[in-house]
Amino acid sequence: MTRDTVFSKILNGEIPCDEVYGDEYCLAFRDISPKAPVHILVIPRKPLESLKTAQDEDKSLLGHLLLVGAKVAQQEGLQNWRTVINTGADAGQTVFHLHLHVIGGRPLKWPPG
Ligand code: 5GP
Repeated sequence: MTRDTVFSKILNGEIPCDEVYGDEYCLAFRDISPKAPVHILVIPRKPLESLKTAQDEDKSLLGHLLLVGAKVAQQEGLQNWRTVINTGADAGQTVFHLHLHVIGGRPLKWPPG
């Protein structure tokens, strides 16, 4: 079951966000605590908790999120960026509504911590 999260509240308008893109499947907005000059989150409108609970039926939605991430990165003027999906608390997931981080605008180290 999907918990009520800060992102479900953003989706239903209870919490404001700095939107950069939206369509019938997803919403993209600036992270409230950016880790780089560009840090955008792309979230599905469907309340998926994480990749762990995604199903075969979500294939095209997941592909769409990746392409929207690429679109907003380029909209922000980025030539290089990183797309991250944290899955589970030990991997850094703090909000249990699936989301892509699109991060760029500075050189990024590898591997992440
Ligand atoms: P996670 O750690 O789950 O992969 O990423 C959650 C992200 O959501 C974090 O980068 C955090 O800064 C961001 N975040 C948490 N609450 C809010 C909020 O209310 N508004 C926005 N725009 N971002 C948020």
